[in-house]
Amino acid sequence: MEGDSAPTIPAADVSSGVNGGMTVKECEQMIQKSLRTPMVKFLRENLEKSGCAIGDKFIKAIYCNTKVSGGYARGEGIVVCSNHMNIQDEVNQVVIHELIHAYDDCRAANLDWTNCAHHACSEIRSGHLSGDCHFKRELLRGYLKVRGHGQECVRRRVMKSVTANPHCSEAAAKDAMEAVWDVCYNDTKPFDRAP
Ligand SMILES: [Zn+2]
Repeated sequence: MEGDSAPTIPAADVSSGVNGGMTVKECEQMIQKSLRTPMVKFLRENLEKSGCAIGDKFIKAIYCNTKVSGGYARGEGIVVCSNHMNIQDEVNQVVIHELIHAYDDCRAANLDWTNCAHHACSEIRSGHLSGDCHFKRELLRGYLKVRGHGQECVRRRVMKSVTANPHCSEAAAKDAMEAVWDVCYNDTKPFDRAP
């Protein structure tokens, strides 16, 4: 549909990699469980309402050679990196994060993942709305909670993801993130407010 047919995985979300991970089969089972959580159900319903219903095979577990926890690619779906997952909560988190990318891809017909600002906007939204940066998870990552830390956490993760995009240098990623921050951080669709 877009001129650029090379599938881009716009979600290089670096995992903590503290433990050993799980098998693809174990991860597939956790993905199935995640589909029954309220957040995932809500996002799937909204994808369907927006004309982008997803089938049972849309979310897959795979072994990943790079240090990412998952990804989304237009026309291909969502992958969760089993070898970087340890608990159900992490799998839920990745599924929710990537579903927000899928939602953005669905609602914005002209979304261009090679455009650093477009990519940054979707990362800001998924970082903010998925709860990636909630207090407990940040503590698990070893970051101390201070006032305003939630936004700092989203910024850090947006930078990791956007700089992993071959079209975005570190400087371009930073500029793009700052330029779209307010609009995209405050855009909480399909939620009424940040969950
Ligand atoms: Zn992402």
